[in-house]
Parts: sequence; C-alpha cells; structure tokens
Amino acid sequence: MPIAEDFVFIGRLSLDFAHTGDMGYGPRFERLKSPGDLNRWLSLSPLRLPPLPISDVEMEEAKILRRAISRVASALVAGAAVGEQDVQRINRAARQPALVVQLARDGKCMRWHSPTLSAVLATLAADAIQLFGDATQRTRIRRCENSGCQAIFYDDSRPGLRRWCAPNRCGDRMRAKVYRQRKSQGHS
Ligand SMILES: [Zn+2]
Repeated sequence: MPIAEDFVFIGRLSLDFAHTGDMGYGPRFERLKSPGDLNRWLSLSPLRLPPLPISDVEMEEAKILRRAISRVASALVAGAAVGEQDVQRINRAARQPALVVQLARDGKCMRWHSPTLSAVLATLAADAIQLFGDATQRTRIRRCENSGCQAIFYDDSRPGLRRWCAPNRCGDRMRAKVYRQRKSQGHS
C-alpha cells in the first residue's frame, strides 16, 4: 500500500499483519525492518502485547507466515488457486500453542500468559484459517477500490457492500474525490 509507510489497522488481525509487508510494492514498503518494529506492531495491534524477545530466526518465521497469508488472501480475492506451500506454512504455524489469555488478580483486566512470538504466530495463523476456511467470511475478503491503496480487507459491515478498506482511510478520500469530480463537471 503506497499511501502510508506506517502501520495500518483496518480491523482483521491476520490481514493487518499481512499489510506490514511490502505487498508487492517493493522493499521500501517493508514495515518490519527489525524485531523492534514487530514489537511495536504487536503493542499497537488489538493483541496489545508487551515487548517480546524476538530472535532473527523468529523474525524470519514471522515474515514467512506473513508472506503465506498475504499470498493466500491475494489468490482468494482474485479467484485464483492458492499455493499449496502457503497453506502448509499457515497450518504449520497454527499447530503451535497459541496465545493464552488470563484474568488479572483484581478480575477486571486481562493479560497474556507467558506470551512468545511462536504463540503470536500461531494466533495470527489461526485467524487466517478462520478467515480463509470459513465460507461466509471468505466471500467478504475484498480489495480496496482506491487504486492508490488496493489493500485487501475483511468486510465486516452488515450489508457486506464495503468498497474501500476503511471509511477514515480510503472511504472519505474516495467520496471527496467523487464530490470534487461532480462539482468540477457541474461548472464546466
Ligand atoms: Zn484503501
């Protein structure tokens, strides 16, 4: 997505994770350049994780899973066949123990029980499996119609007619563009 180099959270964990990659736009759109970047993403994401120790090998595993999720999502949205190897990679990550949530002593807030990056990847993979493997959810995977964005998103709106990744991102921008076009045509 060339419109922003920082993280974007459109609302679906596994797809938001996929968007930290260059999505085919070239290495300068890579957003996870270091374990520190990944920790920042994890703290800003709905998982709200504390900083984790992340080795170079784990960083590589995270990117392998991310690429697999991204490729399967792209294939599904294009109506193309998904790569067998990508499916295997997602399944392999999902077989690890996922993140475990615990209630804090006061019973009023939650925290993760001994989170690890492997558990994070298992949780991300499980979300991707739910999304791709569920017939209803799968039909709601879309590509943003803003040509400068083209982010793949999950349409969780009730009517299921969303054309843009997020109203406050591309929706408003595209509506403003249409408005300007109409106005300029009206004056010509
Ligand atoms: Zn968009």
